[in-house]
Amino acid sequence: MVAIIPIPVLADNFIWLIHDGRYAVAVDAGSAEPLLARLEALKLTLSAVLCTHHHADHVGGNAAVAARCPAPVYGPANETIPARTVPLHGGETLTLPGLALSCRALAVPGHTLGHLAYVVETPEETALFCGDTLFAAGCGRVFEGTMAMMWASLSTLRALPETTRVYSGHEYTLSNLRFARVVEPDNAALAAREAAVQALRAAGKPSLPSTLAEERATNPFLRVEVPAVQVAARAHSGLPCETAAETFAALRAWKDGFR
Ligand code: ZN
Ligand code: FE
Repeated sequence: MVAIIPIPVLADNFIWLIHDGRYAVAVDAGSAEPLLARLEALKLTLSAVLCTHHHADHVGGNAAVAARCPAPVYGPANETIPARTVPLHGGETLTLPGLALSCRALAVPGHTLGHLAYVVETPEETALFCGDTLFAAGCGRVFEGTMAMMWASLSTLRALPETTRVYSGHEYTLSNLRFARVVEPDNAALAAREAAVQALRAAGKPSLPSTLAEERATNPFLRVEVPAVQVAARAHSGLPCETAAETFAALRAWKDGFR
C-alpha cells in the first residue's frame, strides 16, 4: 500500500510525502525540520525529493535534507534548485527510487519558467503534484512566463484522466473559492464545494487532494470555455474574451487584484 500524506509547513505550504511504510519520496521540501521529524516518527527512509520549482517555500529545506539523507533530488534543469542531483526538463518518465513507482515529469511553465508537475502512479491512484501551477479552485500567479504559457500548462493538466488526484503546493482553497463564486455565482457544484471545504477547514483538515473532475466542475481557470465564465471575464475586464486563452488572461488579471 502506498499512502500520500501532507506535512503542513511555513504559512500554508504542503510537503507531500509518498510512502509505502519503508521508503518515502518527498515533493517540495520547503522546510527541512518538519520533514525530517516526520520521516523519523514514521521510521521511513527518504529515497528521493521531487521539486516543482525554485521558489524558497518549495526548495528551502533541500540543502539541510540532502545533508542528512543521501537521496537524489530531482528538479527543473533551468532553475536554481539547491542540492539538485537530477535535472529534468519535463517529458521524462522515471522510476521513483525505493518505491519503484512510475513518475512522469511534465513541463508546466508560467508561474516560473521551469516549473514541473509530476504524475505518480501508485497501486491506489494516479497522483498529480502540481506545485504552484494548479490549485484547488484556482491557479498560481504568472510570475515568469506569459499568460499563454500558463494557459497551455493548465490545459495539459486538465487533459489528465478525471480521476487523477490533485496535490497542490498550498492550502489556498477557501480564498480561491471566494473568487470562483464571484465569477460563477450560479454554479451549484461550486456552492456545494465551498460548503464542503468550509467544513473540512473548520475541522482542521486540509482541503487537498481534490480530483481533476472536481476542478473541471468548479475551478474557473479550467472553465474558460464556459459561456458564464466568459461573460463574467468580459464584464470585468472590458476585453473581448472570445477565446479560452484570452478569457484565462482576463480571469488571472482579475484574480491578481481580487481581495
Ligand atoms: Zn511558487
Ligand atoms: Fe509557493
